[in-house]
Amino acid sequence: MKCPKCESENIKVVDSRNADNINAVRRRRECENCGERFSTLERIEGIQPQVIKKDGTRQEFSRDKLLAGLNASCSKRPVTTKQLTDICNEVENMIAGKASREISTTEIGEYVMTRLYKIDKVAYVRFASVYKDFTDPNSFAHEVQKMNDQK
Ligand SMILES: [Zn+2]
Repeated sequence: MKCPKCESENIKVVDSRNADNINAVRRRRECENCGERFSTLERIEGIQPQVIKKDGTRQEFSRDKLLAGLNASCSKRPVTTKQLTDICNEVENMIAGKASREISTTEIGEYVMTRLYKIDKVAYVRFASVYKDFTDPNSFAHEVQKMNDQK
């Protein structure tokens, strides 16, 4: 490993601690050449977080896809990018906190819906309508009714 500032390879570890919420170790490092301090995150290699879909198949978790879904649901709504990236971070932490490094689409969906419900009701219904795959118009009406009751 090289110093990000001077590219020296004389790096010492100043401090090591378990990273919050994730199965990883964060190390504070210092360059013995120029004194630059930086941190590294060490995690188990080869275990990419997996999402288990409703049909039982797995695919690699994609933060980009989740964010794209959130952006679509929040289009033209008073929701900040920060609020959406926070949700993505929380979901990533949820997965990282699991020993299996696996999460079901249901878990992600339910969590995101809970968060959006508090942020913006329209975004919530949009997300829910895609996520829950409404085939029954009554269940959609029920969601809208629940939304109106909150007003
Ligand atoms: Zn350096």
